[in-house]
Amino acid sequence: MAMEILNKVLPDSETEPDVSHDDGDRERFAHYVQKDKITESAVTGSPVIALCGKVWVPNRDPKRFPVCPECKQTYEDMMKGG
Ligand SMILES: [Zn+2]
Repeated sequence: MAMEILNKVLPDSETEPDVSHDDGDRERFAHYVQKDKITESAVTGSPVIALCGKVWVPNRDPKRFPVCPECKQTYEDMMKGG
């Protein structure tokens, strides 16, 4: 499956309903998203869903973030056994 790492960058206006115990850095991870979905989103502006379940509308901010550990684990599992 063609996957691409995509940075998640929250627009200022977006609120994040997730409640977690970290300091918010989770919002600065790069998530794995199906490449087809990224292309589709670029055209339609619709949100994408990361492997970890994160949903957001990507933009093209070139900043580099560390890869989301949940996405990474899911992706590796997929590559192992399918
Ligand atoms: Zn993720």
